[in-house]
Amino acid sequence: MRCPRCQHNNSRVIDSRSVNDGRAIRRRRECEECGFRFTTFEKIEVLPLLVIKKNGTREEFNRDKILRGLVRSAEKRPVPIKKMEEIANKVENKIRASGESEVSTKLIGEYVMDYLAEVDEIAYIRFASVYRQFKDMSTFMAELQEIMEKNDQADRQDEKDELKKNRSADE
Ligand SMILES: [Zn+2]
Repeated sequence: MRCPRCQHNNSRVIDSRSVNDGRAIRRRRECEECGFRFTTFEKIEVLPLLVIKKNGTREEFNRDKILRGLVRSAEKRPVPIKKMEEIANKVENKIRASGESEVSTKLIGEYVMDYLAEVDEIAYIRFASVYRQFKDMSTFMAELQEIMEKNDQADRQDEKDELKKNRSADE
C-alpha cells in the first residue's frame, strides 16, 4: 500500500482488527520509508444480487424481506427472533454462495421453507401457503399430509434408534 505522504510503496502492518461484525478488516500501517501511519480497510466485495419476482420484474435482494416474512408466519409461535435471523442469514448465504447474480422469489421461498420446516411446522405451513399460494384446499391438505408422514417416519426412526441404544446397553 502506497504511503499517502511520501508515495513509498512499502508499508508495514502494525495492527489488524476485525470490524463490522467480521465483515471487514481494519489495518494500521506504517510507511517503511517515512514512518507515516495510515489506516486501510479490507472488505468482501458484495456483488449486486437481483430478485426476479413472479411478474418478471427485478428488485435488489433484501434480507429483511425474508425476515419479515418469517416473523409474520411465526406470529404467536414459540420461535425466537434469533432463530428467524439465523434462517434469513442461512438463506442469504446459500444464495450468495451459488454465485448467481439473479435469483427467483420462488427459489428463495423454497430455501426458507426447507429451514423453517425444521424449526416450526405451523410457521412452515403458514409460510408455504403464502408462498405457494395454494389454490385450493386439496393442494394444501396434500402438503399437510406430506409433512405429517415425514414426521411420522422421523418419530419411528427415533424409536428404532432408541431401541437399538437400549439393546446395545443391555449387551
Ligand atoms: Zn512514507
